[in-house]
Amino acid sequence: AKQPAEHIWFNGELKHWKDATVHVMTHAIHYGSSVFEGVRAYDTPDQGTCVFRLNDHNRRLFDSAKIYRMTIPYTLDQINQATLDIIRENKLKSAYIRPIAFYGDIGMGLQVPFGTEAEVAIAAFEWGAYLGEEALKNGVDAGISSWNRLAANTMPTGAKAGGNYLSSQLISMEARRHGYGEGIALDTNGYISEGAGENIFVIRDGIVITTPKTAAILPGITRDTCMTLLRDKGYEVREENIPREAMYLADEVFMCGTAAEVTPVRSVDGIEVGAGGRGPITKEVQDMFFGLFNGTTEDKWNWLTPVYK
Ligand code: PMP
Repeated sequence: AKQPAEHIWFNGELKHWKDATVHVMTHAIHYGSSVFEGVRAYDTPDQGTCVFRLNDHNRRLFDSAKIYRMTIPYTLDQINQATLDIIRENKLKSAYIRPIAFYGDIGMGLQVPFGTEAEVAIAAFEWGAYLGEEALKNGVDAGISSWNRLAANTMPTGAKAGGNYLSSQLISMEARRHGYGEGIALDTNGYISEGAGENIFVIRDGIVITTPKTAAILPGITRDTCMTLLRDKGYEVREENIPREAMYLADEVFMCGTAAEVTPVRSVDGIEVGAGGRGPITKEVQDMFFGLFNGTTEDKWNWLTPVYK
């Protein structure tokens, strides 16, 4: 297979893609001890390639590390700079960027000695629509998983940690086995939590509801973006517990995340949502969201960081 990009930023150095490797005894492989981010850069008409919400993503990387008492031996500014550098180095116009901090080959013990520094890598490469271009237009068929999302007192879903993605893999594997495009998990209280890698919005009678932070979600940056854009347009947006049947009775459902962007959900558990396609408010959110990158939505919030200017 073709390698996705030339270089990877790895512990402060530029490495060729194939040389950015780790030892099989890497702690993170055995115990899931990594924290990471998914960030996108878009090619905009006015400012060229821009990273979307760069500081917010890397700040969350440091937040995730703090939760696990992990020491990242760089400052937030350094990681922001390195993120811009690796996009430039790979001469990318648009990119998916993956910063990751993890414990390396530090011995077999589960316990990480205090003060152990994490290794840090940042990859940047081109990556299209995660759930497919077709899904962006016509929506995905989603199914509720038999797997619950992590209970709040088991593993913190507010950290974007490698280990959490075993839960996401179970959710998405089951969904695909049942013929769905994506899986949605309930929290341990039985309310809607999130998709395998996306937050959920439900709309009925023009009122937009998304799950609260207490519903075992990763509080997504795209979720925050959609809430901000919708409120800016005058929509009422609430954070409320969403029971499963509210998805069946919704006029519109959409899911959002850095990889999935803003994707309509056209059915849940085989029940059509609204008219069974992309609803009008979902279309509006998509237009506002992608408008940030094609120049039709004013970036009032300073969310864009130019890469080459
Ligand atoms: N929930 C989970 C489990 C995710 O993996 C993601 C993607 N990072 C999201 C929600 C959405 O977060 P964001 O919008 O910050 O990408």
